[in-house]
Formats: sequence, structure tokens, C-alpha cells
Amino acid sequence: MLETFVVWLADELAAASSSLVDSSKRVSLWYLLSAVLFAWLVLSLRYGALGWARLKPYLSWRVWWHRSARTDYQLWLANRLLLGVLIPKTFTQAVWVSWLYFYWQQQGFGDLQLGWSDATVVVLFSLCYFLVDDFSRFLVHWAMHKTPWLWAFHQVHHGAKVLTPFTVFRTHPIEGLLFFLRSMASQSLVISIFLVAFPNQVSLWQVFGVLITTFVFNVLGANLRHSGVALSYGSKLEKWLISPAQHQVHHSVARQHYDRNFGVTLALWDRLFGSWHPGNDDQTLRYGTGQAIDEMGMLGQWLEPFRSLFQTLQRRTKQRLKLRLRGK
Ligand SMILES: [Zn+2]
Ligand SMILES: [Zn+2]
Repeated sequence: MLETFVVWLADELAAASSSLVDSSKRVSLWYLLSAVLFAWLVLSLRYGALGWARLKPYLSWRVWWHRSARTDYQLWLANRLLLGVLIPKTFTQAVWVSWLYFYWQQQGFGDLQLGWSDATVVVLFSLCYFLVDDFSRFLVHWAMHKTPWLWAFHQVHHGAKVLTPFTVFRTHPIEGLLFFLRSMASQSLVISIFLVAFPNQVSLWQVFGVLITTFVFNVLGANLRHSGVALSYGSKLEKWLISPAQHQVHHSVARQHYDRNFGVTLALWDRLFGSWHPGNDDQTLRYGTGQAIDEMGMLGQWLEPFRSLFQTLQRRTKQRLKLRLRGK
């Protein structure tokens, strides 16, 4: 029993450390390096020799070994182990896609026979896949801020006092589960619909096309959004894409920045929902929630949300009781 546990733990830790050199993982050293180069290039073009000075402080060990950053690393590993146990390995996207595929057929939905070329279907599929994925991320994130019981868990992500690329993993396992279900549901939905509507026209090449957009997103500094490097995309592009500076505003402790910039790639959703706030290269922000969670270690990050949730429920029950007593 103990031997099985040790072998499993060693395998999981090896898999976690291998993602640091795996080019399909966001925090691989290649993407961390490309983010630094991208920021250096853009800031040098904008500010000449002063560009490096805007980047350098965030490469310091004082940031990467800050207590908050160490909690990010611990949560990354601990959540990986926990979710590896909680989510059965058989619960794959293929299972979801086949279930939905047969469901659509049972509902009488079939080949649309539109006679569209493979190229048209490729473009439409990639576009739908990207839009549904990006909008569902926005929506779940928006709900996490607007619903008190979901915020109890999402506050863990906002408890980071310094931002490093590993802050993306600073989440509560419950949030990890929700985002796993979101990605499975949104991606399987689009894939299954296209498989039924355009049989034999959706191939792995198209899914690979979607992966290419993720690759470009990673090379062009996805990792900078969780860093102190203030980098906007300039007045025009800033309105359409969520820049690193915009996501940093999302993490700001200042009251005027609360509930701003929920998006991941497109700024469109925030502009439609009235939650958009442009970022800029000169912003100086403090990060965190300003609450007790900012100071807690890994175990605190796991447990505090349940205490907050219990408190919220208790407050609500008391309010309801008061209202009932007044009504009598
Ligand atoms: Zn948030
Ligand atoms: Zn974030």
C-alpha cells in the first residue's frame, strides 16, 4: 500500500517537473523565456534603453521567492495531486464528445449537407471553438466574483501579493474542478456539433489549428499577465485584447479596480458587460484582496474558503430568520 503511494507520488512529481520543459505547457521554460524576450522587445521599442529597467525588477529572486510566490508553487503541486485523485482518468474529452455526439443524433440533428469546402469548415470550427472557449471562461470567472459562495473559493487566486506566472495555478481545488468541467463542456459541445453537422470534415488537423492559437498566445507573453511587468497593447489593440496590464488591474487591491477585466483573450466580453478597464504601462498597483487570505500559507488557502462559506451561509440564515420574525 505504502509502496504504491510512494510510486504514485514520485510519478506525479516527475510529471509536474517535466511540464517545466514541455512546450505544450504554459509555464514551460521556453514560454517563460519567450515572455521575457517579448516584454523586453516591446518595452525597448517604446522606451529605448529604459525598457530593460521596467522589466528587470520582476526577474529578481525577491519576487520569485516571495512568500506569496512560494504559496503559488505549493498550491500548484498540491492541487495537481488532489485533482489527479478526484478526477477519474477515464473522464476524458473523448467520453464527453461521444456522449454528446449520440445525444445530438437522438434529437434528430444530423449532417447539414451544406456542401461547404473543408477550408470553410476549418475556419468556422476554429472560430466557434475559440469564441465559445473564451466566452465560457469569462462567464465562469464573472460568476466567481458575483456569487458569494463562489467568491469564497476564488479569493485564493486574488490573495497573491506578488504576481508570478505560477499565480495562474494559485486556485482552490473547487475552482480547479469547476474550470475542468467548463473546459470539458465548452470544448466537447463545439467538437460534437461539428462532428454531427459536418461529418468527415472535422479532423485532428483542425484541433491542431486551435492549438496553434494557444501556442501564439503563450509565445506572446500569456505569462506576463501574472507578473508585475506593466505592459499594455497600446490604445487601439487594448480595446480588443486583454493585455497583461489589464489582467494586473483585475488583481489590484484598489477599490476602483474591483470586478474589472474578467476576460482571458478578448476584451469584447468585458466591454459588453460593462466591466472593462484599460491598462497602461505606467500603472503602479498593489495586489491582493486586503483580507486575511493574503497572509495565509498553503493549508490556509485550502481551508479558509470553507470558513468564509460557512460564515456567508450563517449570515444569510440569520437574515432570513429576522425577516420571518418581522413578518409574524
Ligand atoms: Zn478574478
Ligand atoms: Zn489572475
